[in-house]
Amino acid sequence: MSDHYDVIVIGAGPAGSMAAWHASLGGAKVLVLEKDRDIGLPVRCAEGVGAAGLQSLIEADPRWIANKIEGINLISPHGKRVHLANEDFGYVLNRKLFDNFLAEKASKAGAEILTKAYAEELLFDEKGDVNGVVFSRFGKRLSLRAKIVMGADGVESRVGRWAGIRTQLKLRDIETCVQFTMANVDVTPSDCDFYFSHERAPGGYIWVFPKGDGIANVGLGISGEYAQYQSPLRYLEDFVQEHFPKASVLTTTVGGVPVAPTNKQIVKNGFMLIGDAAHQANPISGGGIVPAMVAGKLAGQVAAEAVQTGDVSAAFLKKYERQWYKSEGNTHKITYRLKEAVYKLTDDDLNKTADSILSLPEGKRTIVAVFKKALYNKPSLILDALKVFKMSISEVFDPLS
Ligand SMILES: Cc1cc2nc3c(=O)[nH]c(=O)nc-3n(C[C@H](O)[C@H](O)[C@H](O)COP(=O)(O)OP(=O)(O)OC[C@H]3O[C@@H](n4cnc5c(N)ncnc54)[C@H](O)[C@@H]3O)c2cc1C
Repeated sequence: MSDHYDVIVIGAGPAGSMAAWHASLGGAKVLVLEKDRDIGLPVRCAEGVGAAGLQSLIEADPRWIANKIEGINLISPHGKRVHLANEDFGYVLNRKLFDNFLAEKASKAGAEILTKAYAEELLFDEKGDVNGVVFSRFGKRLSLRAKIVMGADGVESRVGRWAGIRTQLKLRDIETCVQFTMANVDVTPSDCDFYFSHERAPGGYIWVFPKGDGIANVGLGISGEYAQYQSPLRYLEDFVQEHFPKASVLTTTVGGVPVAPTNKQIVKNGFMLIGDAAHQANPISGGGIVPAMVAGKLAGQVAAEAVQTGDVSAAFLKKYERQWYKSEGNTHKITYRLKEAVYKLTDDDLNKTADSILSLPEGKRTIVAVFKKALYNKPSLILDALKVFKMSISEVFDPLS
């Protein structure tokens, strides 16, 4: 370990490792601090990713793919299934191995990675700009200086606040999730199932993502607004009892997902915020792996350039912000509006939507058609949906991205 780095990244999730990887490729001297003992553990994720998004960033590798997904089922409150087939929908990952793989990429490109390294505070220069990190490791407290510090510390991020950025989310913009990884789950192995019901998962949905061999991630997210009245665990237990009474729970995980537009501020002099910490998950699906990777890549590239040019000011680092909005952030603003409308639908509305989709010939049942039917009395949102779908159908309401 040296005592001065070009870039220190806090957090080795997909955002942090991608940033470290790409900053290193750009020639920067990079250190990653990860508080946990193992990169990728604990897994707090349903592990689903859309193929198109993933493959735009990295080649899919059988070492970390648990299962290939070739169809999704959108299931209404009254149990009707709208099946959408696409042999390249996506994958269910093995997140532990996937996160490890990205960290390995960063390491091979030259980044140093420290696990069990818990960032505790930031250091500032005389002008008040971030210029280092204090962290603890094996009982020692250490301080290191850096030209740029990146907060990639996930949904519970504190690093952004330490840097003086407001990152608080409204309750309704946090999806409160609970998930069981279960054995002996009887589902179609190549399909992901999504159950929509205001009664059973208010302000969210229930997912069943098969990992192969009868193993599946079965979970739900509900809007934080409703989680105060009944815990998500109660909703999940009811669902599992009804649908998979013979399955066993192997692992239970809980966690939050930011389902908001990108945080207003994501850069300061010498500082960048990325991934869940910057609220960059897809607001409608809650999928945050690919967006975190996109943001990490962009931030890493811009950080390397900033170091090279000797300008780490917010004005320069805003290049990352602009590229993020162009790539995903602007779409997220629209999907956030769509989410607000979709999650207000009553179970009756959802049943009617499913019935009218099922009345279409099979070839016409598409995500666009689902949105058109669901939002038929909100024409401005249909236009929004169409605008977004035209930009990238696979990433907007591909519930795996
Ligand atoms: C139940 C659940 C299911 C989900 N399912 C999906 C899904 O199927 N598909 C999908 O795309 N997304 C899913 N998500 C969202 C996805 O997991 C996140 O969006 C994604 O992991 C964000 O990546 P990140 O790198 O920003 O943050 P994270 O992956 O959370 O990584 C942050 C890292 O920072 C570390 N850290 C935190 N604080 C410190 C500190 N002080 N010092 C050092 N290190 C620190 C953490 O230990 C962690 O390793 C799900 C989330 C939940 C909770």
